[in-house]
Parts: sequence; C-alpha cells; structure tokens
Amino acid sequence: MFGEGLLTGMGVTWKHFWGKKETFCYPEEKLPMTERFRGGHLMFDHTKCVACTLCSLACPNQAIKLKIVPDAMKKRHIESYVHLVGRCLYCNLCIEACNFHALSWDKNYAISTWHKEEMDDELVTAEGKEFFNEMMEKAKAEAEAKAKAEADKQKNEGGDA
Ligand code: SF4
Ligand code: SF4
Repeated sequence: MFGEGLLTGMGVTWKHFWGKKETFCYPEEKLPMTERFRGGHLMFDHTKCVACTLCSLACPNQAIKLKIVPDAMKKRHIESYVHLVGRCLYCNLCIEACNFHALSWDKNYAISTWHKEEMDDELVTAEGKEFFNEMMEKAKAEAEAKAKAEADKQKNEGGDA
C-alpha cells in the first residue's frame, strides 16, 4: 500500500513520544548512581573519625595526606585530610579500612577540572575545623583542671605530713 512505510514510521515515533524517556538533559540532569558506585569526591565525617590513619595506610597510591595533632589529653585529632583526587584509583580500600564509617563517596561523576591543583581536596570543612578547635580547647581545659586537681592533692598531702 502506498504510504504504508511512512505510517509505520510515524507509528513508531508516536509510540516513543509518549513512552518512557531513555535520554536525559546532561549536565542539568544527572543519572543517580547505584549504592555500590565508587567515584566522585571522598566525603569525610569529622564527628566519626578517631584519627587512626588506617585509611591512609590502606591506600596503595598514597592519595591520602593527613595532618594529625594530639590534644592536651594526648588524644589524636585530624586537623587536615587531603584527598589527592588525581592519584586516586577508586579502589575503595580507604573506605573499607575505616572501622568508623567516616568515609563515603559523593557519587558525583562529573568532577573534571582544568587545573591540577583543584584536584587536591581538603575534606575538613569549616565546620570540621570548628569541631577540631572545640576539641582542642576542651582537652586543654580538661588537662588544666586535672593538673590543678593534682597540684591541690599534693599540696594537701604536703600539709598533712
Ligand atoms: S579509593 Fe583507593 S586509591 Fe583512592 S584514596 Fe581510597 S585507597 Fe587511595
Ligand atoms: S580510617 Fe576512618 S577513623 Fe581512621 S583516620 Fe581514616 S577516616 Fe579517620
């Protein structure tokens, strides 16, 4: 029949026009990544970290640089956590090594950049720095109180003798 091919083609177009969309408007829209997707930026939860350095030791490519500072009570804290994205193999070993679930991926796969220096991510946020300072201050106050209590005790013991 004349025009049969045209009608079949239009039928297919019509069906797809109303059907489920298989494309999306990247970069405005991004595909949601699965639970097991490894990629994007490493996210760090400063409230869970105990500064054990296991993540850094597990990294086969030395892509994690940590600055650890002991407080006045000799407890360790992370002052700086740098993820060298350009060196990262996305092997997930750092995340698996952390016993406190302080690390995760943000799953943002569009992380290309023009400048190499932008590939070094400081994971300790302003809020994390504030938390770090609070912990240091708290430990300092605790150490001072402890030293004062010990001095008072010695003084009392000296007075009793
Ligand atoms: S994913 Fe692998 S290479 Fe990347 S920082 Fe973690 S341990 Fe290192
Ligand atoms: S392994 Fe976890 S708890 Fe230990 S330093 Fe790394 S992020 Fe912190």
